[in-house]
Order: sequence, then C-alpha cells, then structure tokens
Amino acid sequence: MFSKKFQRKFALTDQGVENTKKGTFWTVIVNLVVMGGVSILYLLMSGFMRTLPEGKHLPGVVSAVGLVILFVLLSFVTHLQQYKATYGLVYNEVKSTRLGLAERLRKLPLGYFGKRDLADLTETIMGDVNRMEHVWSHVLGYLYGAYISTGVIAICLFFYDWRLAIASLWGVPVAFGLLFGSRKTADRNAQRTKKAAVRVSDSIQEALENIREIRATNQEERYLEGLNQKIDEHERVMIRGELGTGLFVNAASVIMRMGVATTILVGANLILSGSIDFMLLFLFLLVITRIYAPFDQSLALIAEMFVSQVSADRMMEIYDTPVAEGSGTFEPKGHDIVFEHVGFAYDEKEVLHDVSFTAKEGEVTALVGPSGSGKSTCARLAARLWEIDKGVIKVGNVDISTVDPEVLLRDYSMVFQEVVLFDDTVMENIRLGRHGATDEEVQAAAKAANCEEFIQRLPEGYDTPIGENGARLSGGERQRISIARALLKDAPIILLDEATASLDVENETKVQEALSRLLAGKTVLVIAHRMRTVEAADKIVVLAEGRVAEEGSPAELMARGGLFCRMVELQQQSAGWRLE
Ligand code: ADP
Repeated sequence: MFSKKFQRKFALTDQGVENTKKGTFWTVIVNLVVMGGVSILYLLMSGFMRTLPEGKHLPGVVSAVGLVILFVLLSFVTHLQQYKATYGLVYNEVKSTRLGLAERLRKLPLGYFGKRDLADLTETIMGDVNRMEHVWSHVLGYLYGAYISTGVIAICLFFYDWRLAIASLWGVPVAFGLLFGSRKTADRNAQRTKKAAVRVSDSIQEALENIREIRATNQEERYLEGLNQKIDEHERVMIRGELGTGLFVNAASVIMRMGVATTILVGANLILSGSIDFMLLFLFLLVITRIYAPFDQSLALIAEMFVSQVSADRMMEIYDTPVAEGSGTFEPKGHDIVFEHVGFAYDEKEVLHDVSFTAKEGEVTALVGPSGSGKSTCARLAARLWEIDKGVIKVGNVDISTVDPEVLLRDYSMVFQEVVLFDDTVMENIRLGRHGATDEEVQAAAKAANCEEFIQRLPEGYDTPIGENGARLSGGERQRISIARALLKDAPIILLDEATASLDVENETKVQEALSRLLAGKTVLVIAHRMRTVEAADKIVVLAEGRVAEEGSPAELMARGGLFCRMVELQQQSAGWRLE
C-alpha cells in the first residue's frame, strides 16, 4: 500500500522501487559505518585519557591500527555498494521510464494529443525524466537512509544522556519543519519555471515550423524579440525560485547547526554540576557533527524532491490517461463499414449528429459535402482513431470499440493528404506498409503505384534518402509513395483522402491509375474532392453540418435534384471542377 503510493509519488517503475530500497539500505549501512569510525576515535581517545595520569605507554597501538584499517576497508566496501545501488542502477530506470512513457503515448487515443501540446510532451519524456533521474540517483536512497540511520543514532544518544541528546538534536525537527512549511512556495515556483520553459520551447518549435513564413514576411526581428522576452522571463522565474529554496535550505541548515552551541552550553553546565564527565560531551560533539552531515545533504535534497514533484506528477498524468483498449482478436464477417446513429464531439461541441450509413465491401463509398461538414471526422472514426460518443460503428458486424486499435488497424490502409514520410530511404519508407516485406515486394508495390519512374530518376534510386517529411518529393510523388505503402499492406479497408491541391495532368493520371489498382475489391471510404471520383463512386454519402443529408448512387442523387445535384451543377459552372 505504502509502496504503491511511494511509487506513484516518484513515478518509479517496480524495479525502481526495489532499487530505492537497496539504495536506502546501503546508505544506512554507510552512515552507521561512519559512526563506527567515530566510536573508534572515541575509544582511542578515552583509552588515551585514562592512561595519561598513570604515565604508562599509549594503549595497544597495534589494535588501534587494526581497527582503523578495518574501518577504512569497511567504509570502502559499503560506499562502493551504495554507489552501485544508487547511481549504477538508475541508468536502466531512466531508460525503462522513457520507453514506458513512449509506449503509453503510442497507445493513447489521438484525442489526447489534441489537448496536450507536443513541446510539452517532449519536455516530459526528456526534461522531466532527467530531473527525476537526479532524484532517483541522488535523493531517495540518501534521504531515507539518512532518516533511518539518524533515527537509530538518535535513540542511542538518548540512552547515553537524554539531556544532551535534546540539546544536540532539537534543531533537526525545527529545520525540517521549516523546510516542509516552505513547500507551497517551492511548488508554486517549480510550476512557474516549468511553464516558462514550455513557453520558450513552444516559441522555438513554432518558429521552426513557420520558418518560411517568418522569412518571407521579414518577421525575424519581431520573432527574436519575443523569444528574448520569453527566455528572460524563464531566467527570472528560475532565479527567483532558486533563491527562494536556497534561502529556506540555508536557514534550516543554520538552525540545525545551532545544536552544536546548545550542546556545548548544556554539556558545560552538566560537567560543572558533576553529572557527566568530559568524555561524554566529547562523544556527543563528535557524533552530532557527523549526524549533521547527511542531514545537511538531505536538506538540499528535500528541496530538490519538492521541485521534482511537478515532474513526477506530469509523468503520472500520462500513465493515468486511459488507453483505448479492446480485444486482441478481430474476426469480422466481411468488411462492410456500418455507422449506426453515430454522434461525436472533439471537445464540447458535437460535430457529428446521428450519422448512419453503410460502406459496402467491394464498393467505393464517397463522402462529399462542404468543408467542415465532418467528412474527415467520419474517416477517422471509422478507424477508431477517436472514440465515438453515441451510437456504434461496426466492421463486418463487429463493434470496433471492442477491438484493440492496434489489431483493428491491421485491416486498414490510410492514404491521407498529409503523407507522413520519414527521413529514411525510399525503400524503407514504402516498406513501412508491411514490416518485413522483401525488397522485391516493395519494388513491385512501387511499380504498381506508378512510383518506379520517379524513383529511378533519384540519384540513388530506392536507396535515396528522401529528407525529412519527403522534402525532395513533389505532392503527387508523395501520394504515390503512400499508395505504394497501402498496396504493400494490402488491407481490406482503404480510407482515402484525395489530395485537394491540383496535380498536373500527368501526375493526376498516374495517381488515378495507382489508386484504381489499390482500390479493387476493397471496402473504400473516400473523402472525395474531385468530380471524377465522385462520378465513379458506387455510393455517395452527402454530409452537411455533421448530418447525412443524402445518400445513394450518383445517378440516383442527380435524379433527386437535392443538395448533391446542386453542388455538381455549381462545380460544373466553376472552372475548377473541385468538389468541396
Ligand atoms: P471536413 O473533413 O468535412 O472538412 P472535418 O471532419 O474536418 O470536416 O471537421 C468537422 C468539424 O469538426 C469542423 O467544425 C471542424 O472545425 C471540427 N474539427 C475537425 N478536427 C478537429 C479537431 N482535431 N479538434 C477539434 N475540432 C475539430
């Protein structure tokens, strides 16, 4: 129970909890061994003092040297173990946490990414984990170790003399009280610093994304000025935060050290009244300076732990977001896509209302309608990229909300407008369609998608790197790469978003040819922008303001003379022949 809470608080993995226990254990041992050193010193000193008046030789030099050597050895071994248990193990913890977070993000519904900004997520995976790394390696074990060992030593001190014990230890709870009291301020500062940091990285990311526009409109100076302000602000907030924590930490440390003064004061009085001897005071003074050392260290560590809490919370927030789950098997009867009374909202505002239609296997179903009517949304929902709010979507009579999205998507190919291309070779970019496809299969798909001729024109053919997001390729070429991917995957359902940008005639024909090969025999849901596609579709679903306005074959809809008919007529009058 406690362990679960602790684990959450510090965003630790199971292994991390084990490691922290180990680290704590070895820190306790190290601190006790150090105290052992102090006791050796005490023993030697008191032996020395006792023998002095009698004028004899110093007591057993050999055994003293033996003790010291034993102490050094023990000290070395335990420090080594402590090091291994703290720093040594943390590397794996960092790695598995990053992988864990990334894996979690991969499974989260797309809706999550609409709400959280990407700079923020990257900051969590890299920055927050880095901050936690320091806490895991430097703070937890040391801190808990210091608590336990000091507790043990304090109890021993009370046995020796409770008056001196109080005189030397009163500062510890006061110092910690002060620090915990300052926690709210520390939290607030940490939040502020984090926000300022995100603003800076947001601003940089935004500029990188819009670098062309910024250059083209001569806005560099204005942008830099804004960035400068944000960086200054970040620095200001950070300095203020650190000053605040520094102040509290130092005050706490000074208060704790005042224990030395009170011990001397109380001790001197006790000696004068004859209730203790000098050696006991000497022992206390030796011990408390050693107790302060780990505590001093831990005061600074506590401050760091407070600050890290914000990072841990942000990491846990990712872990706590529910993933889209479902059964690991998907055995539909055929691949008809059926929408039944589907209602959906991205946030509060519903954008699809009571949408029902069927896209049959072996047919091309075209979604048409004005911009913003919900065509892309329907396509996304058909693949469970988002969760619907009302109604049900079935594929081959299976409710897709019961199927694990990862399994479900094996049956889908998506050819969307924004083709995502990776900074890798052409070959690998196509191979993404089906992991493990042979080079020959990739080439066959490329050929069928009419990619061959432009690939051969590239300097290294299939092995040409295509630059980040396909910077080297034209729009039509990119789309053909994505068609090649889909051909390679050969999934029974194709979701297709036609390019809105006009392609030149040659490209257009090549894309159309490639598509016709891809679409044969599949369940095709196409967001149609072109008359040609619409006319060739088996079925048309006309959307208007998130509702199905009409559906039927092109001929039926033309004969009915409704919205579709009017859109077609409008299109024919305008030169573009675009349908939107
Ligand atoms: P279409 O594809 O027909 O142009 P969309 O399906 O893209 O229409 O959009 C339907 C409605 O949903 C629009 O009002 C649009 O503003 C809204 N919308 C689309 N995507 C998002 C999103 N990621 N977050 C919030 N609202 C969105």
